[in-house]
Amino acid sequence: MKTRFSYKDIHHCDAVVLTCIDFRFWRETLEFVEQELGIKTFDFPSLPGSAKAINECLGENDLAFQCIGVPCELHHAKKIVIVNHEDCGAYGGSAKFESSEEEQKFHEEELEKAKAKLVDKYPEKEYILVYARLADEKENIEFLKI
Ligand SMILES: [Zn+2]
Repeated sequence: MKTRFSYKDIHHCDAVVLTCIDFRFWRETLEFVEQELGIKTFDFPSLPGSAKAINECLGENDLAFQCIGVPCELHHAKKIVIVNHEDCGAYGGSAKFESSEEEQKFHEEELEKAKAKLVDKYPEKEYILVYARLADEKENIEFLKI
């Protein structure tokens, strides 16, 4: 197969979007970033638990940190988007929580913690924290900016 390389000679992108590896969420996350956030060019690393990977990383050589560092330093990304989601297996899934409200609050704290960790190194970036919750009896995914 051969396909057109749309970004010939382009080495900059607008953002880095860190998301979970979960197959149930990443396509919809792509749609959300392009359509709702209006971001057209972005690196799209995925790691189990998304914010969890940042919060657990020990130093700048850690893979999770490089997933942010390469887009920021090599591709000059100006925005850092971190997306966590409901029923994330990396965190033990929804079963670990008493209610979906409690689960959401936990993920909001995780996202804030990841931001705090990154802001030290990248204070000039715009941060967008997102929680993908399951809505309408789990028929839909709702993306909430927090
Ligand atoms: Zn997950």
